[in-house]
Amino acid sequence: MHFPPLATAVTLDLPDWLNDELADVPDEIPAVADRVALVNRLADRNWREGGGGPFAALVAERATGRIVSVGVNVVLASNISLGHAEVTAIGTAQARLGTWDLGGAGLPEHELVVNWRPCVQCYGAAMWSGITSLVLAGHGSECEDLTTFDEGPMIDTWVEAFEQRGISVTLDVAKPEAVRVFEAYRDAVAAGGAVVYNARQA
Ligand SMILES: [Zn+2]
Repeated sequence: MHFPPLATAVTLDLPDWLNDELADVPDEIPAVADRVALVNRLADRNWREGGGGPFAALVAERATGRIVSVGVNVVLASNISLGHAEVTAIGTAQARLGTWDLGGAGLPEHELVVNWRPCVQCYGAAMWSGITSLVLAGHGSECEDLTTFDEGPMIDTWVEAFEQRGISVTLDVAKPEAVRVFEAYRDAVAAGGAVVYNARQA
């Protein structure tokens, strides 16, 4: 070898506790509000378990609410900055269905549900995934204000940009519950019990 061994895969493993957390969750969750409640619940447990930030997502069939995948933020556990909840939910949905396009021919329409609006990375990841619906527990400055996570330079017209590409956006389905997760996280960070992992930290 003339160069050091190179990694040959990018692996974003989801945590084992998800199996326990999902044990009583039905295969189909028909109501959008109930799908949002699940991502809020997973986001809260995720930071408490220590594998990543207070973020969770799922991909569901839009018409039936059949759960195709769930994802949580695994940046700390994986040491990979790509490991946001949207990315792990989209990736595991695509792996399960065997397609890079969740909007491909012959497939039902798919929805991405997240506990807050996307960062700059996930804005693109969601846009290229093939979903036709994006549902958010909340959006606005509360996430950055409470958690100090940096969403990056999102454009002001991000909702319109999704909708121009055939992706409907539903905002603020359960904002108070989403904010409560961030408040608990903020208190834990202040007490030294949780990590904020923004890049380029001073
Ligand atoms: Zn993100």
